Amino acid sequence: MAKIGFLGLGEMGTPMAARLLRGGHQLTVWNRSPKRTVALANDGATVASSPANAAAGADVIITMLATPEALEQVLFGSEGLAAALSAGQLLIDMSTVGPDEVRSAAARLPHGAAIVDAPVRGSVPQATSGKLEVFVGATREQYERVRPILELLGTVRHAGGPGSGAAMKLVANLVLGGAIVTLGEALALGDALELKPDLVLDVLADSPIGPIVKAKRVNIETGDFSPSFKLRHAAKDLRLVIEAAAARRRKLQQAEANREWLDDAAARGAADLDFSAVVAAIRGENA
Ligand code: NAP
Repeated sequence: MAKIGFLGLGEMGTPMAARLLRGGHQLTVWNRSPKRTVALANDGATVASSPANAAAGADVIITMLATPEALEQVLFGSEGLAAALSAGQLLIDMSTVGPDEVRSAAARLPHGAAIVDAPVRGSVPQATSGKLEVFVGATREQYERVRPILELLGTVRHAGGPGSGAAMKLVANLVLGGAIVTLGEALALGDALELKPDLVLDVLADSPIGPIVKAKRVNIETGDFSPSFKLRHAAKDLRLVIEAAAARRRKLQQAEANREWLDDAAARGAADLDFSAVVAAIRGENA
C-alpha cells in the first residue's frame, strides 16, 4: 500500500480521498480550510499543517483543487508543495486546470520530481462510488506506477504523454458546457412557444443531449441547484477551453457563446450553485 498525500478536500476531493483511505492506503491530507479534514482524520487520515508537510514521506501526492490559480498557490505559494518534493516523488494533479498549466508547473518542479495529470469526468456520485473516468497524461512508466492507485477511483485511461489527460478533460468539458446551455436554450424556446416543460423534457430525454436531461431534470423541475459541480468551475473550464484554443489559433465560437451564458449566470449570483442553474438563468428565472 502507498503513502499518499492528498490536497484539496472539496466536493470531489473528499469522497476521492475517502476511497483511497478505505482502499488501505496511508493518507496524509491537507485543505486550505482545515475543517474539511475532520471527517477524514476521524477515519484514520493524518492531517498536515501545510502543503509542504503533506509531501513528507509520501510516495505520491494528489492535488484536487479548484483552478489553475489554486494549484499555483498550493505548489508555489508560502509553505508550498513544490519546494518540498524530492526526486522520485510523483505529483498527480486531478484538478481541471488544462494542459498549459500542467506543463508550466512541471517545468518548475525540483529536479527528479514529476507531475502526472489525471483529471476526471463524473461528479460527486461517481467520486463516491469509484466510477469516475480518469484521463491520464503520463509516460508509460509513470502511468503503470499510478494506475493501481487511480483504479480505486474509477476507470483509468492513458490519454498520452504529460499534459494529454488535462487536454482530454478540456475537450470533454467543452461538450458538457455545450450540452447544458443547449438544454437551457431548448427549454427557453419551449417556454416562449408555450409548450409544457415536462413534455419538452420528455422529448429532449431522447435527443442527443439525453444524458444531461436525465442527470439534471430533478434540479430543473425542483429549482434545487445545490452544487455537485459548481457553476463557477464550469465557467472556468470554458475559459480554459477558449484560452487553450486561442493559444493554438483556433476560434471556438460556440464555446465562447456557452461561456457567456455561464458567466452571465455567475454574475447573477449562481456561481456557487450547481452548473445546471445556468438553465434557470437562460429561462430568465432566478436560481
Ligand atoms: P470545490 O468543491 O470548489 O473544492 C475546491 C478545492 O480547492 C477546495 O479544497 C478548496 O479549498 C481548494 N482551493 C480553492 N482555491 C484555493 C486556493 N487558492 N488555495 C488552496 N486551495 C484552494 O471543487 P470540486 O467540485 O471538488 O472540484 C475540484 C476540481 O475538480 C475542479 O478543478 C473542478 O473543475 C474539477 N471537477 C469537478 C467535478 C464536480 O462534479 N464537482 C467533476 C469533475 C472535475 P477550501 O475548502 O479551503 O475552499
